[in-house]
Amino acid sequence: MADALFEKVAFIGIGLIGSSMARRMSADGLVTTIVGCARSEETRDKAVALGVVSEAFEDSADAVDGADLVVIATPIGSYGAIAKAIAPALKPGAIVTDVGSVKQAVVDAVAPHLNTENAFVPGHPIAGTEDSGPESGFPELFDGRWTILTPTDETDAAAVEKVKTLWQSMGAMVDTMTPSHHDMVLAITSHLPHLIAYTIVGTATDLEDDLRQEVVKYSASGFRDFTRIAASDPVMWRDIFLNNRDATLETLQRFSEDLTALQRAIRRGEGDTLEELFARTRKIRRGIIDAKQAD
Ligand code: NAP
Repeated sequence: MADALFEKVAFIGIGLIGSSMARRMSADGLVTTIVGCARSEETRDKAVALGVVSEAFEDSADAVDGADLVVIATPIGSYGAIAKAIAPALKPGAIVTDVGSVKQAVVDAVAPHLNTENAFVPGHPIAGTEDSGPESGFPELFDGRWTILTPTDETDAAAVEKVKTLWQSMGAMVDTMTPSHHDMVLAITSHLPHLIAYTIVGTATDLEDDLRQEVVKYSASGFRDFTRIAASDPVMWRDIFLNNRDATLETLQRFSEDLTALQRAIRRGEGDTLEELFARTRKIRRGIIDAKQAD
């Protein structure tokens, strides 16, 4: 057991990410007390029954009372209202962090509400599944995965170090970058792939009945892998696209141009163009396996 890094941690949102962090913190003795907040009684009861949190509150201001660390782990669209609600109730010196998949919009939504004695350390674990809710979390989720912290010039350096140590203690590797750089990187590695998956699965669901049935039957030929991504939480992904609009549109533009080039190569029978691209992309897959970031 490690020494506790924080006395009391409050999770605003106890779903996949919040409950995975809470489980790992408990398992490794990283904190002494863990409480949570969720809107529905069902989520709160479940989180307490599973032992993820010792107490769960409906009001976020009640949850953060006396906490040394507050983790916002709800869909991004709720961040501004949550920051406003918790700010007056925060203990002086308490650190606020988050796990949102977009960072510039999160900094803009949260930081203006907080007092200067409460540092905000924006974070994003690059780990997850398509499942949601407190029952879907597990303590090993962050093992060997990256967490990106995006402090700004105003962020207290000691608070960043504490949050970094926490993530490392939960098994993650930690990188630091600016919020806007994070958003550009994630637009290509995560947001665009999700948009493509949602589109492909959407196209399939619009097919005529007989064809749609065969899509499910023969899905192991490729379609199945897109459906896993396209099964991700609708509210979370709505908020990601609305809050990372510019970077998503920029990568989408590049993607459309590349897709048009491929379309032309197929029409013109340019096999070399296709083969050269597929050879390059295969190398990327091997690189991901070598970096131990493939499942
Ligand atoms: P999730 O499983 O759906 O959990 C969300 C939690 O937030 C639930 O406990 C929900 O309970 C609660 N909640 C929602 N709105 C709330 C509000 N206004 N006030 C208080 N609680 C609220 O979601 P998740 O997958 O953990 O995602 C949470 C965050 O992590 C998102 O910002 C997402 O961008 C980020 N993230 C997700 C992944 C992933 O793969 N899933 C990976 C990295 C980062 P109630 O509905 O009962 O309120």
